[in-house]
Order: sequence, then structure tokens, then C-alpha cells
Amino acid sequence: MPRAVFLNSLPALQKIESVVFAGWGETLMSPYAPEWLEAVSTRDYQTALVTNGLLLDGEMAEKLASAPPFTLNVSIDAGTRETYAKVRGRDRFEQAVDNLTEFMKRRNRHHSRTGVEWIYVMMKSNFRELPRAVALARRSGVDKFTAKHLELAATRQFMDEAIWNYPTSPDLAPELAEEMAAIEDECRRIAEGKLILNFHPLIHTDEYWGKSGPVFKMFLSHEGNVTACSLISPNNHRPFSDPGFDRNWILGNVLEKPLEQIIESEVYRDFQNEWLSQTVPPPCRGCPFSLRLGEDGLCHAL
Ligand code: SF4
Repeated sequence: MPRAVFLNSLPALQKIESVVFAGWGETLMSPYAPEWLEAVSTRDYQTALVTNGLLLDGEMAEKLASAPPFTLNVSIDAGTRETYAKVRGRDRFEQAVDNLTEFMKRRNRHHSRTGVEWIYVMMKSNFRELPRAVALARRSGVDKFTAKHLELAATRQFMDEAIWNYPTSPDLAPELAEEMAAIEDECRRIAEGKLILNFHPLIHTDEYWGKSGPVFKMFLSHEGNVTACSLISPNNHRPFSDPGFDRNWILGNVLEKPLEQIIESEVYRDFQNEWLSQTVPPPCRGCPFSLRLGEDGLCHAL
């Protein structure tokens, strides 16, 4: 994200309850990441940064370890080098785990209150390695390990990798559920007393989803475009969407208009009101998350 996009958004970001630096790319590719964390940390609210951990070393690691407290989520979806290479498309498992382990030492040296979480997206091709990953996470010294589900993929076919009853994934096979339960038990034994373990359930519930996403959340892209959701973007990269949506659902661009004004825009209010009146608005139609809404009739994704 260019610096101008962030700086133009900053006055509004400082009033927002929670800011998450995440992306379609790698957040630590930006040399400004520590500066942004610092800039939004004057608030009492929650700040998080998501990374694959591959650039979590050297000067960047030092700056993050000495930054004001935030939540660092490190995504590593494997317990072995082979599986990491398969699911991530590159052979850098050791680097990710080593960086994370070193970062924990730095964090502790700085007496930082930053919370660090290993995020593991469970798939058919990696779930048997969960105990190995939990053992590594425990050794690395992270605070928490979260095993979550594959919720979206670039193609519908790739959702075959999912192992829960998500609307666009295949039905949950009973033998798979049984095996998962045994694996979860094993992970709990490994983690006991040393690591907080957070396993998302195999059956869809509202509990593990974001709250009222489309009504209270917004997404700011690296180009400065603001949308009501990360899956609504000018690149229309949302999987399985049928049909696409028109560009009017881009609420504005912070390089042209202050974020505060965009938040107050009529088109955003319309979008929120449609959800609140239990109607799925046009840009959300065809989105996999609109297929199963929470009890309040809202999409609880992302
Ligand atoms: S239905 Fe899809 S596009 Fe709409 S807010 Fe939910 S996740 Fe985003």
C-alpha cells in the first residue's frame, strides 16, 4: 500500500474500533508496516497484522517486537516442509518457523505485550499434521494456536480441500469427523498448559465468525479503494460470484476523498440498510458467504 493511501486514511482509522492489516499479498512486503502499527496504536482499540512470517526477520522483526502492543497472526498451514511446499507453493517451511521462533525471543527481550498467534488453515492435505504443528508452535513459544477452516479458495474445485460443512464444500464425511476429533484430542494433550489452543468446530456455527461483517466493517485496498467488504473489489476477485457487481459498489477512493466522508456516503448506508432489512444487497448476491447467514440474517464472514 502506498504511504499516501495510509496517511490519507489515518484520521478515520484512529477512530475505528479495530484495524487489521491483512491482504491479498504479504503485509510485511511493505517497509511501512511498523510505522502504520505505531500510527494507529494511539487508540485503545484492537490492532492486528497478518503475515506468512517469511519476512519476519532482521530490522523488520526488531521494529515489530518493539512496536506498541498489537496482535500478530502468522499463517503456517503445515507441520512439515513437504506439505508446506504443497499448500503454499514454495519450499520455505523452516524459514517461517525459524523466523517465528526468533521473533518470540525478541518479543520477550523487549517485554512486549504483543500477542502472537500461529494460524493453521485446516485442509484435507494438511490436517493430519496438526499435532506436529502444535508441537512446533509450543516449542516456538507463541501464545496461541488457531486451527481454522478453509473458507474461500480461488476455485470451487479447490474447496474440495475443505473439511467442514461450509456451504460450498462437500458434505462432512463421518469418518473424517471422527479422525479430526482424535487429532484435536492429541493436539490438546501436546498444548496442555503451554499454549492456548483454538479449534474451530467442524459444524458451522456463528461463534467463530466475524460479527455482522457487512454492517460494521470496511475494506481499504492498497489502491485506496474502499468497499464494504474485502470480497467486493474493483478486481472482482471474489470466487464463485454470479453475477459480478458493478463498480458503483466501490464506495470511494481515499486519494480523492477523506475516508470519513466515504464512511458517511449514501451508497454505504444503502448497503448497510439492505442487510439490516434482511435483504442480500446486489454486490453480495452469488457470494458463497451469502448462502449461509447468521441467525440475525447477516453475513458473518471475514
Ligand atoms: S456476502 Fe460476501 S461479499 Fe457480501 S459482505 Fe458477506 S462476504 Fe462480503
